[in-house]
Amino acid sequence: MRPSDQLRPIDIQVGYLNSNPSSVLYRCGDTVVLCSASLEPGVPGWLEGKGKGWVTAEYDMLPSSTNPRKRRDRSGKLDGRTTEIQRLIGRSLRAVVDLKALGERSIVVDCDVLQADGGTRTASITGGFIALATLIKRELPDSSIGNGPLRDSIAAISVGVIDGEVRLDLDYEWDVAADVDMNVVMTGSGRFVELQGTGEEATFDDEQLTRMIALAKKGIAELTQRQLDLVS
Ligand code: UDP
Repeated sequence: MRPSDQLRPIDIQVGYLNSNPSSVLYRCGDTVVLCSASLEPGVPGWLEGKGKGWVTAEYDMLPSSTNPRKRRDRSGKLDGRTTEIQRLIGRSLRAVVDLKALGERSIVVDCDVLQADGGTRTASITGGFIALATLIKRELPDSSIGNGPLRDSIAAISVGVIDGEVRLDLDYEWDVAADVDMNVVMTGSGRFVELQGTGEEATFDDEQLTRMIALAKKGIAELTQRQLDLVS
């Protein structure tokens, strides 16, 4: 079994699609997400005239990303989970973007899950940042992280408690077995953006929380390094 403090193997391919050079195929173990960032002119109506840009995200799972097949919803109405996840991705990415420096234009980051084996939202944030940074670097070649629209990097990982043991990066099997699970979103400089922790099967105490956060920080530091190797 994978050691409890280790990430699943990660593989990242930037420029995966010819149709969009700011596309990233992000794999962690058997979870595979295609993240693509696109620049669009203008901003949503409520933001017009404020001299600020906008960053948003869309998330979806392909029918064959799960077994059995996940039925495609063609009604156009998003289910609660999808809405929650795409808002989380958008909030996380905006946390590291200086919207004023972006000017009045929008970036949409599409996160499409090709294969789901737990941690699709955290993979979307980590891979989505690489797509976003690739796009910004292409549009503003003189910019860098800390100089231009990107203030910092951002990555996310899950942690949980299984049979009393704190574990990093839950795949589906671990996710199902977990008494507690938590998604941690952090900047590359080590600041928290969002914590989503739930004691579903059991409550958790301060000590477990501290251990989960320490493990998440270790995972995020590794993810940050992988990101910066590709986009800085
Ligand atoms: N899952 C699934 N069908 C669904 C939703 C989730 O098979 O409609 C599986 C999938 O493997 C996913 C895992 O359950 O990665 C955990 O889902 P969760 O909602 O906790 O989100 P995630 O961990 O993917 O961010």
